[in-house]
Amino acid sequence: MYHCKGYPVQLILFDIDGTLLWPKGAGRESTRAAMREVFGGEGSLDDHHFGGKTDWFTLSELLRDSGLNAQEIGRRMPEYERVIAHHLGGMIADFPIAPCPGALDLVRRLVAQNTLLLGIITGNVSTTAPLKLRAAGFDPAWFAVGAYGSESTDRNDLPFLALERAERLRGHPIPAQSVIVVGDTPADVACARAVGAVAVAVQTGFSNQESLEAAQPDYLLDDLTSFFTHVITGKARAGR
Ligand SMILES: [Mg+2]
Repeated sequence: MYHCKGYPVQLILFDIDGTLLWPKGAGRESTRAAMREVFGGEGSLDDHHFGGKTDWFTLSELLRDSGLNAQEIGRRMPEYERVIAHHLGGMIADFPIAPCPGALDLVRRLVAQNTLLLGIITGNVSTTAPLKLRAAGFDPAWFAVGAYGSESTDRNDLPFLALERAERLRGHPIPAQSVIVVGDTPADVACARAVGAVAVAVQTGFSNQESLEAAQPDYLLDDLTSFFTHVITGKARAGR
């Protein structure tokens, strides 16, 4: 059993882009193709900063000038998810998608520990997340639960969805102190706080050190190679 801050770790939720892997432009280009097909344009996609947002929120921002609101975009989300998966699937081999340092080793080691669950919380829609994971060498089946950017415009909703799914899978409640959220942006730290989980931030993504420090994660790591050294301990803290 692994522990963190004196509590047994039951669930670790990973962000994808900038945390587990580098998408190398595949996300932006598949978004462009899908937005053109479904919504007839991509707005100011080239200048858009994706980090920490959900794709539903991103679409709402980019399509605001087209008169489409978040509710209407949500109504068309199933179509968008189908179309973007088709485009990403067709182009993904053209992008040098790569795992972030230490990510594959860490996830493999955690998967072998069957007392905890792994999950995904990502701004990616539910159909593109497994494509990106597979392209970087991760088996999507390693992650027992997920919450996706197609499910809310607010990233802070996602850890609640993932936790609820993990509890249903386990058949018992999982206290928030036994949950770790790992991400690369201040928004990931905020969504860990929203659910009361331990927040781990890595500097392999698109946020600079100052902004991550300002978000005050429980742990700020250079990358996932030091996750075990800094975050996980083998036993409960004395007195707990
Ligand atoms: Mg990210």
